[in-house]
Amino acid sequence: MKKYVVSIIPLGLLALLLFFILPSCSTTNQGQSWEKAMGQIPTSPLDPRRAHQDLNIQIDLIPEGRFGRRLFRPMKPQFITIHSTQNYTGDAFAHAKALKKGALRGGVCGYLCWHFTVQGDAVIQHVPTSERGEHADFDGPGNRFSIGIEMCEHKGNDMLATMDRTAKLAASLMYHHDIPITNVVAHYHWPRAGYNPANKNCPHFLMEDGQPREAWQWFKSRVERHHSRLALFHQQNQQKIEEQRQREKINKLVRWFEKLGSWLGLS
Ligand SMILES: [Zn+2]
Repeated sequence: MKKYVVSIIPLGLLALLLFFILPSCSTTNQGQSWEKAMGQIPTSPLDPRRAHQDLNIQIDLIPEGRFGRRLFRPMKPQFITIHSTQNYTGDAFAHAKALKKGALRGGVCGYLCWHFTVQGDAVIQHVPTSERGEHADFDGPGNRFSIGIEMCEHKGNDMLATMDRTAKLAASLMYHHDIPITNVVAHYHWPRAGYNPANKNCPHFLMEDGQPREAWQWFKSRVERHHSRLALFHQQNQQKIEEQRQREKINKLVRWFEKLGSWLGLS
């Protein structure tokens, strides 16, 4: 009997441990397995202009003064908001078409709109980054101050390529608009007044139990690592400019001394 009790206690403890540890292991593994499948990001510097070109952004704006751009509402972007479409039939081109004909109703101005839609092999821009969108929280700061990016989920779309292209786009936008990584947020971040729950489970495949946890942190680390390459290029470029400036200063001094020498008849 004593022997039986002794063996039951460790088993119970083991079961308890597994109950608490396994969910967090599986969520961490999700990010880890995506990371493995995508491959590591190089640490070498990358020219931000090249990175921008590589994104191959197709500009297909909603007509000025119509639908989601019915009202001209300038914006200085301070955040980047990541969404996913939860539309399993429409690709980025279909979303561009829908936005251009005002097919998606909602928001404060009566039409939904956001800045970029990303799929595995393409990025389409719908709204200039200097104008606000209607994608996050009605008249809240998510819409008033953030660039909205939608990730496609249509059948056949390469989701890994979509996530990485989105991470690269976010990194490029961070660089060009001087936005810190802390301001790269999930749609979840912006509560929607009058909704229950107020915080949307979006982008849902990066949320765990409807909230940003390990998988979201992994995605953000991917954005940050892409951004580091651009920042490193910028830093090295600044160093080169400074070195060039110093060289020119010295050359100027040398020329001045040569002139002085010839004036004094020393050469
Ligand atoms: Zn969303």
